[in-house]
Amino acid sequence: MSVLPPGRIHHMALVVRSIDASLVLWRDFLGLRLETIMDIPSDRVRIAFLGVGESKVELVEPTDDTTGVARFLASKGEGFHHVCLEVSNLSEELTRLGIEGLELIDSAPRRGAEGPVAFLHPRSCGGVLVELIEAPGGPSWSALGMKPPTS
Ligand code: ZN
Repeated sequence: MSVLPPGRIHHMALVVRSIDASLVLWRDFLGLRLETIMDIPSDRVRIAFLGVGESKVELVEPTDDTTGVARFLASKGEGFHHVCLEVSNLSEELTRLGIEGLELIDSAPRRGAEGPVAFLHPRSCGGVLVELIEAPGGPSWSALGMKPPTS
C-alpha cells in the first residue's frame, strides 16, 4: 500500500494542571487564538484548542485522578503529550500501519472532539504518542455519525 503524506499537523497536545492558568501563557503572552474550551466527560478531561496557522495547540486538563492523562500529570508533570496528524482516510491508514507492524491503541476510528481519531502506541513511535485524525469529508465521519465543522 502506498503512503499518502498527512495533510498537516492538526494539533499538538499538552497536559496542563489548569487550562485557565495555561491560557496566560498560550493566549495572553504567546498570542494564540482561543477557539474553544469544552468538557469531555467520557474522557474525564477538559480541553482547549488554540489556533496557530493551520494547526492548533490542545491543552488537556484532567478532571479527576483516575485516567491515563491524570497519571501522566502526576508522574511527569505538565508538558508535551501527543502530536496529531491529519489523514484523508483513517481506516485505511490504520490497516496499513497495522500491516507494517505498528502497535495501535485504537484499531478502528473513534469519535474525537474534532473528528474521527485513533492513537498509535508510543512503543511503535519512538516514545511519542501519535494521534491520527481524519480530515473533514473522509469516510469515517459519516460511518461514526459525525458532522464535519461548518467553518
Ligand atoms: Zn489530540
